[in-house]
Amino acid sequence: MKVGIVGTGMVGSSAAYAMALMGVGTQIVLVDQDPKLAHAHAQDISHATPFASPVQVHAGDYDDLQDAKVVVLAAGVGQKPGESRLALLDRNAKVFRTIIKNIIAVAPDAILIVATNPVDVMTYVAQRLSGIPVGKVIGTGTILDTARFRTLLGQHLGIAAQSVHAYVLGEHGDSEVPIWSSAMAGSVPIDTLANQMGRSLLSEEKNTISTNVRDAAYSIIEGKGATYYGIGAGVARIVQAILDDERIVLSVSIMTDDVLGVPNVPISLPRIIGAQGVLTDMVPELDKIEENALRKSAEVISELTEQLNL
Ligand code: ADP
Repeated sequence: MKVGIVGTGMVGSSAAYAMALMGVGTQIVLVDQDPKLAHAHAQDISHATPFASPVQVHAGDYDDLQDAKVVVLAAGVGQKPGESRLALLDRNAKVFRTIIKNIIAVAPDAILIVATNPVDVMTYVAQRLSGIPVGKVIGTGTILDTARFRTLLGQHLGIAAQSVHAYVLGEHGDSEVPIWSSAMAGSVPIDTLANQMGRSLLSEEKNTISTNVRDAAYSIIEGKGATYYGIGAGVARIVQAILDDERIVLSVSIMTDDVLGVPNVPISLPRIIGAQGVLTDMVPELDKIEENALRKSAEVISELTEQLNL
């Protein structure tokens, strides 16, 4: 099955690399406004496939996206010095306008995965501009924040992140909400498990974990200028869930009719993902503090989408 990636900078190329290593799809087509860059990544990544899976990776143009089941949008422009977030958003919306028109012309049935930041707002932009049903325009949202939460919580308790069931919901950004009240390992609530294992999980320790999850991107950017491996793997995981009709639960962002009274907001909740995209939203039980934080987070995103002129 064919997967397209439009925008092969750090995030797009890392997603392609993760897909090649994980054996996601049979053909990956890389498209960028800089064809030399797309070609170089395609060459480099295809040289990794003999060690992984027989996925074909090549650079191409929009025409080569014909019949793609999924197209990842990772194109964008960086913030100019002194530029406001809204001005940057307007420029990225313009980039999406061209890209989406070109994709729809050749692959009208493709599911779109949005990775360009600010991802929630760009998911709204992609859905509005494409007119594709909401469940088929999926932003990576908090998939990475959830992975970071599970990693840090797993490290703290000394158990595998894969056995931690906990989500970060809301905005992929500063207002995100780690959901502690329903965090579990196996079927055991996280506080009970910490007790059973004789590990301390006091509120200060929880706060430190939450802060480190929220600020992970800042600390990575300080060290190496950008974050891309984690999100690249997250993108690959969403694409795999679609191609294999997995019906797995992932926290991703789509346009949502109502979140705690905030209407029409692109935001992350746990969602079931299969061949048709998002099949069902899941509404987790929240305590009062989490509920208020999630509502606030929805308002933060909504304020931005309302100001955008599409
Ligand atoms: P990130 O770290 O988010 O991946 P980059 O700047 O590394 O950011 O990558 C963004 C990519 O998007 C670049 O390779 C750039 O050439 C590409 N891009 C920007 N505008 C367009 C466009 N209109 N069409 C295709 N690709 C684009």
